[in-house]
Amino acid sequence: MNAPDTPYPFDAELAAAADRIEPRVLAWRRDFHRNPELGNREVRTAGIVAAHLRALGFDSVQEKVAHTGVVGVLKGGLPGPVVALRADMDALPVSEEVDVPFRSEVRTEWSGQQCGVMHACGHDAHTAILMGVAELLAGMRGRIPGSVKFIFQPAEETPPIGEEGGAKMMVQEGALKNPDAGAIFGLHITSVFPTGMIGYRSGPMMASADDFRIFVRGTQTHAAMPWRGVDPIVVSSQIVLGLQTVVSRRMNVTREPSVVTVGVFQGGVRHNIIPDEVKLEGTIRTFDEEQRNEIHEHVKRIAEMIAESGGAKAKVHIHRWYDVTVNHPGLTEWSVPTLGRIAGEAHVRVIDKLCGAEDFSFFQKEIPGFFYFVGCTPPDRDLRTAAPNHSPRFYVDEACLKIGLRTLSALALDWLSANAR
Ligand SMILES: [Zn+2]
Ligand SMILES: [Zn+2]
Repeated sequence: MNAPDTPYPFDAELAAAADRIEPRVLAWRRDFHRNPELGNREVRTAGIVAAHLRALGFDSVQEKVAHTGVVGVLKGGLPGPVVALRADMDALPVSEEVDVPFRSEVRTEWSGQQCGVMHACGHDAHTAILMGVAELLAGMRGRIPGSVKFIFQPAEETPPIGEEGGAKMMVQEGALKNPDAGAIFGLHITSVFPTGMIGYRSGPMMASADDFRIFVRGTQTHAAMPWRGVDPIVVSSQIVLGLQTVVSRRMNVTREPSVVTVGVFQGGVRHNIIPDEVKLEGTIRTFDEEQRNEIHEHVKRIAEMIAESGGAKAKVHIHRWYDVTVNHPGLTEWSVPTLGRIAGEAHVRVIDKLCGAEDFSFFQKEIPGFFYFVGCTPPDRDLRTAAPNHSPRFYVDEACLKIGLRTLSALALDWLSANAR
């Protein structure tokens, strides 16, 4: 019954449907781009997504998952397993400088400063693509062996300070359960590659991201009489230099790369006063859970011991944000032929590790997951000067949307077909 005559019975239909749906995906993306919303505030976006899934006749549409997330389930007409697809919906506090008719004019206050809101990471494209996939698969649902779970996630760029959110919270609230998904796929558009190119890596692909804050407490005194107090500026300078030895002297660099960066050094108000306290802030990136924990210990010890040696006191706070994005090796190997078939084998490449982080990693901790990149820089543009994701000049060649639509749809269909029994 229903045994496919060819190995990939859906391909021609999928291509035709993608052509038909593409204009709608473009329109959604432009609408989201013009109306960007920050993490945990994606109320309008989520409303449009949920209404769309309902209009398509989804079997269930759950809203307000992890604040503003939407989880929809599309049951196919044939028995089979469950595959999950994920898109993120949040924008960034960035003032747009791209000259497009649908540029964002939205403004907000962020950390006490006025600034714009922009889809500078391309999550508008991700949301529109996944809405397109929903429409495409709903159109052939009678022949789909199993179910597709659509996960529209808020706050990938981290939730606002003091709030929980993002993929971790979606998992906690059961986004992957009931029905239980057996695998998850997701994509990210990037200006690092030309439109048409797809990049991926098996195993660790993107870094874990943690931030640290170090408060170095000295004793305030007159700058002309430093011996009367304890100078936290000099002690903190030594700590910054000490932290340079964590990666260079303590980590086995042949195993995995890692990064420790101090990005904030704050202290003092006047040239002739030695202040009481200095604040350091920074980030830690690793590709290995064990090294991640080792680095946390080294950062803490170096800061505390250097401070002590100078008569000061260091308090170290480390916040664990995102785990390493690890592409399941078996699922990756399985996925690559599908990507090659849809996008052309010459366009699918293994890429270097990226020190950026992704909270897709939290889904991958629960079930096998595969995450890949889709290029979005027009082929006639110089890649070296293309503005990166998060830049106010981040530009999306909309031809990438159809590539995302076709590859995600094909991965879902292929996986269900391969795993249906
Ligand atoms: Zn981003
Ligand atoms: Zn992103």
